[in-house]
Amino acid sequence: MQVRNASQSSEGSHNMSRFRILFLVPAFLFAAALGATNADLILENGTIHTVDPDVALVEAVAIADGRIIALGSKTAVDKFRTTQTQVIDLDGRFAMPGFNDAHVHLGNAALRMLNVDLSETTSLEELKTRLAAEVPKRKPGQWIYGRGWDESKWAGGRVPTRDDLDAVTTIHALFLERADGHSAVLNSLALQRAAIDRDTPDPAGGVIDRDATGRATGWLKEKAADQAFGLIPEPTRGQWRDGFLRAMHHALENGVTSVQDDTLRSPGQGKTAVSVLQELHAEQALPIRITVWLPFEAPLEELEKWRKELGTSDRWLKAGLLKTNIDGSGGSLSAAMLEPYSSAPDNKGLLLLDPDTVTDMVIARDAAGFQIGIHAIGDRANRVVLDAFDSAIRSNGRRDSRHRIEHAQFVNGADLERFRSLGVIASVQPSHLLTDLRWAPSLLGAQREADAYRWKSFVDSGAHLCFGTDYPVEPIGPMRGLYAAITREFESGGPPGGWHPDESLDMRAAIAAYTLEPAFAEFEETRKGTLTVGKLADIVVLARDVTRLAPEDVLQTRVDITIVEGRVAYRRH
Ligand SMILES: [Zn+2]
Repeated sequence: MQVRNASQSSEGSHNMSRFRILFLVPAFLFAAALGATNADLILENGTIHTVDPDVALVEAVAIADGRIIALGSKTAVDKFRTTQTQVIDLDGRFAMPGFNDAHVHLGNAALRMLNVDLSETTSLEELKTRLAAEVPKRKPGQWIYGRGWDESKWAGGRVPTRDDLDAVTTIHALFLERADGHSAVLNSLALQRAAIDRDTPDPAGGVIDRDATGRATGWLKEKAADQAFGLIPEPTRGQWRDGFLRAMHHALENGVTSVQDDTLRSPGQGKTAVSVLQELHAEQALPIRITVWLPFEAPLEELEKWRKELGTSDRWLKAGLLKTNIDGSGGSLSAAMLEPYSSAPDNKGLLLLDPDTVTDMVIARDAAGFQIGIHAIGDRANRVVLDAFDSAIRSNGRRDSRHRIEHAQFVNGADLERFRSLGVIASVQPSHLLTDLRWAPSLLGAQREADAYRWKSFVDSGAHLCFGTDYPVEPIGPMRGLYAAITREFESGGPPGGWHPDESLDMRAAIAAYTLEPAFAEFEETRKGTLTVGKLADIVVLARDVTRLAPEDVLQTRVDITIVEGRVAYRRH
């Protein structure tokens, strides 16, 4: 967002290039200090992958005041050790910069944390057990919202009844949404609050399921479920806080130390949610770093206000790009394509925004110095957004804008090179491939398959490519993304050799796309993304060296320790 020279330190106080030159000599023999000489923390005896092209691997790192003060051999780094220094023996384990997830919806993740996830249940008994574990955590009288059950997956499955749920609790109101989102079961207290009894007629467009005697079973369909859902209060600030902290702790467990987040645009409560993040930040209680995206369509004055309020330089919470969506998704055939879907010859998907309108808005927001990130999945959507960014350069001149296309899933060959030439970052989610592989080939047809998920082509063209997950759409764990990036195979394996394996990356490129590149994509590469003297000490320790593992073992690789700003924020027990 800021117009800032890429080589200039974001804080302007440290001259990094001096240290770069030092590292041109063999890194193992030298450690470079940055002012401080007493380390708070030293990691040693590891395989430490710095992602810094000038340094590559070291065996030890020293940290003071949340920043890296030295890197190199154990002996070299030992000079910074005092009696006060905490030392972590990596014992041969692998360490690297903390993962930076370039695309998340933390607010949605927080809401899921507050809800009871029933999607993995394999029986009615398990559903009841899961709920019974949740009940003691909730105050009597509260609603408990669970979602994701699907009786068709249960042996001898039947839809739960109010009596099943009353056996779990009669003093909390239970609303359990089925996996498809079209119906829900409620316990008796919830039915009572929804004023549903024997005499209640079915609402228009809805069904109140009843047994042979006419008594409501608790199963509400469509509008009947929607009406009851409307009774569940929106989360309180305290609940938001709780949900965010749980989601962020989950990120830490997965080695993720920074996220770039679309919460503000969430319908309804985005502003409340972000104000809770601001509150946590004011208390210095944010466990990870968050860049908050702003709503692209908002009037410029409002965007300026947000940019001022959140600022663009705080290392924990700051304003980032302006986000919007120009098309839908491949799976629902709503991504805007140049030619019809192979599986639906009358359908080219659709644009959610008119190209001329988008172009005008991009030009105005670019002129105001904002970074812009637009969700574009289909090849037509990608072309329209590239055209708009091109127009911005023609109108406003070239600057270090770092505009992004989020997803960039299907890109026509004629457009690929434009990412580099226009300076547009491809912000992709490799783990989507693990899900999309089920339908993408039939959707695209043989001719267009090569246009899909073109990770290697982006890198080879010289464009910037960064990774994220779309969490909670996909799990936040980066191992799935790394695995997808290097294999292009299902988690269970296949297709043999990978789907269009020429587009897979090597592990080092995949790690860079998950660390240095996301930092670049949020104007943070001078203080994050590599382990470099002077940068923030955000580090993840993995149980195994992922650069030397068979791909199937990458998926199983665990995070042992996550360090944020020089402090151990997570340690696996
Ligand atoms: Zn998203």
